Amino acid sequence: MSVLQELRQLMPSRPLGDSEARAIAERQAARMLRLTGITEPHVPGSIIADLPRIAVDVRSGLPASGVTHWQRSTHTWRIVLRANDAAVRQRFSLAHELKHIIDHPVVDLAYPALGRHTSRQRAESICDYFAACLLMPRPWVKKAWASGVQQLDALAELFGVSQQAMQYRLIDCGLIPSGRHNLYFREAPAPGRPLLSIVETDAAATRSALTPVLAA
Ligand SMILES: [Zn+2]
Repeated sequence: MSVLQELRQLMPSRPLGDSEARAIAERQAARMLRLTGITEPHVPGSIIADLPRIAVDVRSGLPASGVTHWQRSTHTWRIVLRANDAAVRQRFSLAHELKHIIDHPVVDLAYPALGRHTSRQRAESICDYFAACLLMPRPWVKKAWASGVQQLDALAELFGVSQQAMQYRLIDCGLIPSGRHNLYFREAPAPGRPLLSIVETDAAATRSALTPVLAA
């Protein structure tokens, strides 16, 4: 079974509440790390880019930090990251886009509108949460914190994430008091822009530009 199939199997085919959706995302992130043999920070983007049927490009001038297409001709998910973003942000976007791919078969069912949040907002928010869990696994964050690494800049550098993403993860892990929750760094998606689009693209692969994102 492929990594993608194994992660999809952790997702039940029914509507999910927020806490259950988050617990599943965290389990999927932990499973992905186990399957790819990553045991300490930071998590290289290559564990996503090297998956079969996934290709990663960067492109300047993207209206969003990341976008994913299904490329029919090659049967490949093509994730495009915004070239102008910092490597830490591109890495977070890459993990976020992977969750869209994992959720694709059940996304219309799994995240119905809930309270003040639309279905789309919930789907986006859970992708951020998955990215945080994958790049900043709870046990690793707690271990670093317990070993005395408690400065935001040092932790962010250790995990290869932005200080803002690190700060929200510390709140998630109950290590610093809560302010606003689950905001990480991403902008709200533009209304009308599909979560994933099924189109033909011919993006030039610019793998060298991705070196800082994919490197261990
Ligand atoms: Zn998204």
